[in-house]
Amino acid sequence: MNDKIISFIQGLYQTNQPIPLHAPIFNGNEQKYVAETIESTFVSSVGRYVSQFEDKISQYTQANCAVATNSGSAALHTALYLAGVTTNDLVITQALTFVATCNCIAQLGAQPLFIDVSKTSLSLCPEALETYLTDNAFIDGKGQCIHSKTKQKIKAIVPMHSFGHPALLDELTQVCTQWNLTLIEDAAESLGSFYKGKHTGTLGDFAALSFNGNKVITTGGGGMLLTKSSETGHRGKHITTTAKTPHPYEFFHDELGFNYRMPNLNAALGCAQLEQLPTILASKRRIAEQYQNFFSDSDFQFVAEPDYAHSNYWLNAIICPNKKVRDSLLQQTNGANIMTRPVWQLMHKLPMYKSALRDNLKNSLWLEQCLVNLPSSVK
Ligand SMILES: *Cc1c(COP(=O)(O)O)cnc(C)c1O
Repeated sequence: MNDKIISFIQGLYQTNQPIPLHAPIFNGNEQKYVAETIESTFVSSVGRYVSQFEDKISQYTQANCAVATNSGSAALHTALYLAGVTTNDLVITQALTFVATCNCIAQLGAQPLFIDVSKTSLSLCPEALETYLTDNAFIDGKGQCIHSKTKQKIKAIVPMHSFGHPALLDELTQVCTQWNLTLIEDAAESLGSFYKGKHTGTLGDFAALSFNGNKVITTGGGGMLLTKSSETGHRGKHITTTAKTPHPYEFFHDELGFNYRMPNLNAALGCAQLEQLPTILASKRRIAEQYQNFFSDSDFQFVAEPDYAHSNYWLNAIICPNKKVRDSLLQQTNGANIMTRPVWQLMHKLPMYKSALRDNLKNSLWLEQCLVNLPSSVK
């Protein structure tokens, strides 16, 4: 079977050369717009492409506010900060995620609490969340969600739309309402993914997108903070630009801020990439269909979009019948210069998060052993 998979992927990309997991593609106005910023000398944090990129993203996603940042991690850090996450708080997220999700929590002095993912969405499981809270938390007199054992405040949940497949957002929203939790979507991987017709990142109170080099579209490095309310959006812009109050020449900063603004150079690349997004998404969907057909009568389960969602198919994934089969697939495909990858090691296995609170993480542990990401570059 491994040989068949290898020749299928080589056929898909029509090459015997090394096949990357996800390479960016620059087929539009990228050179032109980036060159314009250099000619204008406005390469840094001031320039028309930054606000244009924000406008285009908020139009496309229908987000109320969009604030461009210099990374997805910076956007997520800002989102958690705006949500009031602070020292010794708990924030619920997935153990099956990229490390940046947890780092933003820890960088605010808070601690992640890991809840399992659902089998179909590969994202935070609403039932597991509900069960954990019912067994381990209560609402105090001030309406705050408190962890029964540690007495820490549980402030927010951060579901991550794994590989671009939207989480069960309605159910998660319901749990948040019941337990007074802020919903922050890690939508770093899900630009172009829709939950029941709404773009991911627009259902929560806050969200973060990423435009790192390996994402659906790239600005080189960059991210976007999305907010539901205009007020937090404005504050997001303010604190990501060193909290400087507007003045022709005076320097006055009215609160603690970050230097998180996306440079104009990167935004120019982003504007050009965004023009290509429909083409990119169509190509990714065709690739996903081909994988899905290929694996349909096999022991491998292709990860398809959940029935409530329209996914961007950022990274295609299959679930192997067991770890032995997975290991042999990883070894042989990588040996043939086809980049395949296991899913991230679960976060509670990393030294900084080894003592984090967690539930049994049943599905996460299974996916950690059996899931493989396949080459997904646009052709
Ligand atoms: C890429 C990614 C991020 C961070 O984005 P950067 O732009 O690289 O900082 C955060 N969370 C997840 C799940 C990601 O995949």
